Amino acid sequence: MRTLASAIAALKKELGRDLCIMGHHYQNDRVVAHCDITGDSLELARQVPGIEAAHIVFCGVYFMGESAALLAKPGQAVHLPDPAADCMMSLMSPAGLARRVLEQLTATGRRIVPLAYVNTTLALKAVVGEYGGAVCTSANAETMLRWALERGDGVLFLPDKHLGRNTAEKLGLAPEDQHILKVSGQGLAEPESAFLGRPLLLWPGCCAIHARFTPAQVADARAAHPGCRITAHPECRPEVIHACDAAGSTSFLIKDAARLAEKAPGSTLIIGTENNLVARLAARHAGRCRILPLGRAFCPDMAKVTEEKLSATLSAIARGQAAPLQVEAALCEPARLSLTRMLEACA
Ligand code: SF4
Repeated sequence: MRTLASAIAALKKELGRDLCIMGHHYQNDRVVAHCDITGDSLELARQVPGIEAAHIVFCGVYFMGESAALLAKPGQAVHLPDPAADCMMSLMSPAGLARRVLEQLTATGRRIVPLAYVNTTLALKAVVGEYGGAVCTSANAETMLRWALERGDGVLFLPDKHLGRNTAEKLGLAPEDQHILKVSGQGLAEPESAFLGRPLLLWPGCCAIHARFTPAQVADARAAHPGCRITAHPECRPEVIHACDAAGSTSFLIKDAARLAEKAPGSTLIIGTENNLVARLAARHAGRCRILPLGRAFCPDMAKVTEEKLSATLSAIARGQAAPLQVEAALCEPARLSLTRMLEACA
């Protein structure tokens, strides 16, 4: 009986140079095994313009597919094995509501530069582009927050308040310089608040997967593994980051694990991020250093992409029956502006 893996291998062979499969680090190993390119959000976005294949199959969540479609060449098709795989955090800052809040914040003539984490919808990125703002990733949030602060009277960082606070701390911004907005369905819930004059305004969103880590888990890990190193992703709450030895983007966590395995064999590393990545790093460095998750943290949306769905997508492409991801043409130009501002500022 033909396995899914061999069916996918046969389809890849059939499609040849017409196909490129991209996969995010949070995908499970069975999917990652078929990917031509893997990376975090920034690495994957950077690779898209260099891809020549007619079909890009993106194993990740919806906003990543949208970004790939935005950066793809004319005529290139981007496919998602499961279009229902949607990052929960990206849905926390609807474009219409963000526009309303920006209208309210700028009504007095104050120049507010929006800075959107890449984990947002194309529609939100378009609003950000229109308002002179840019996108950032966890890998370049510091550079991009500095960029935004230099360009206006204030910055609206959205949607991840934890990444915003962790990045602000790195830049030396005091808690009194920041304010987490209260937002209702109509816009600002407290439009008269004096706190709105602060330099950094944070949208009240977060990643439910990373936000579930606690300082108590860090303390328990230190007690259970004396001398261990603990790292975490900056989508974790600031209290967790303070308790860790280091924090950084997914690519930082990967490099940090490799460095430890080489320089300190026999040591224990605990990582606070999505568990598929932690398990892959544990297997990669097995025998040199022990790598454990800080706690249970699987992204249910990343998990919606399976080998079965990947196989079905490739099969549909081979039959000429695949439905590529469609992006609204009117959103592309302003959304592309917000992405290219990031790529230029970080070149
Ligand atoms: S881990 Fe969090 S930020 Fe990443 S895709 Fe899942 S919900 Fe979104």
